[in-house]
Amino acid sequence: MNADLKSLLDIQEFDKKAAVLEEELSKIEKKEQKILEVIDAKQKQLNTAKEEKEEILKDKSFKEELLAETLENLKKLEVKLNSATTEKQMQAVNTEIDIAKTNKSVLEEKIVSLEEEIELKEKDIKELEDRYTQLQKTLQEHKTKFNARREQIFEEIKQIKENKEKLIGTIDEELLNKYEKLNKWTKGTSIVPVREGACYGCFMKLTPQTIANLEETNDIIFCPNCGRMLYKEEDANSEND
Ligand SMILES: [Zn+2]
Repeated sequence: MNADLKSLLDIQEFDKKAAVLEEELSKIEKKEQKILEVIDAKQKQLNTAKEEKEEILKDKSFKEELLAETLENLKKLEVKLNSATTEKQMQAVNTEIDIAKTNKSVLEEKIVSLEEEIELKEKDIKELEDRYTQLQKTLQEHKTKFNARREQIFEEIKQIKENKEKLIGTIDEELLNKYEKLNKWTKGTSIVPVREGACYGCFMKLTPQTIANLEETNDIIFCPNCGRMLYKEEDANSEND
């Protein structure tokens, strides 16, 4: 086999390995991003629950103030009732007292139901906080794992690049450019074997002339259909060179 082609085949293997590692890296990024999104959503839920609790608390203290005023008013009305001198005055004060008592019981009921709401909200908040803490822990564990793997991958890619660099120096520049151009779309199949008389990249049958060129010369032969570089497989089953 043409020496440049042999080196290019090795480079193709390096590129394929690097692509697999890059893919793994991007999967790691996505997983990490996913966890961060879940945590973010939980944080938002937690904030909303806390804000809602604040609103209920405000509502409750407003109603408590109203209740205090109503109780104060009732006391005054009792005094007024005692000092009423006519039947008409007494009736008028009694009507006011009835209204104040109704207000009082309505407010008391409201306050009780708001207290129940607060209790439920606090339970929600507690659950959300526990879940949030749990998620943070999970993230930390993953991060440790992810970072370790990332380091490994970076190291492996660096190694591959170094090995590739060494080979690149030995190859004809124009040929290398052709390979790089092909690699933009072939995804690791820029140099393919010929199998059953066909290009193993596009699977088109090759002409006897192309096959003869491949077998009889040391030139680099390109598939006339897809432009990939072809090589003759040298395995045990094929005839000896
Ligand atoms: Zn082809």
